[in-house]
Amino acid sequence: MTDYATLLKDNSLKATFQRMQFLEKIEEYGHMSIDDIYSKVTKMHPSLSLATVYKNIILMVKNGVLVEVPIDGKKSKYELKKEEHIHLICTECGDVKDKPHIQKTDIILKELASLENFRLKKQQFNLYGICNNCQSKEVS
Ligand SMILES: [Zn+2]
Ligand SMILES: [Zn+2]
Repeated sequence: MTDYATLLKDNSLKATFQRMQFLEKIEEYGHMSIDDIYSKVTKMHPSLSLATVYKNIILMVKNGVLVEVPIDGKKSKYELKKEEHIHLICTECGDVKDKPHIQKTDIILKELASLENFRLKKQQFNLYGICNNCQSKEVS
């Protein structure tokens, strides 16, 4: 388990109880939308507002604790910042799967960036499609 208090402080954020809870849920589920986080955390803290969740998630993205994963036609999901990896994203059910990063793509992209004299800051690999589960639903 990640030490959320240190993670937040290392990224210049106060380690509030709420933020640590959001992070704990996100780590448990891997990738969550703001609505997902809200519905999980309000089970324990009914007075929590959606606006508070939203505000804190956006702030943690800004400070590099979380990463936003855009989903075609759906609300974005958020994950803890971790080692580079590839996403397989289902546009039917919104499921996001992490797959290990392929080193070869790095070489190609670094070459491209350097040819363009483009100073690369971050990259995210998202493959959008229909997951195995949703494909089997299509048949019936
Ligand atoms: Zn699916
Ligand atoms: Zn991921």
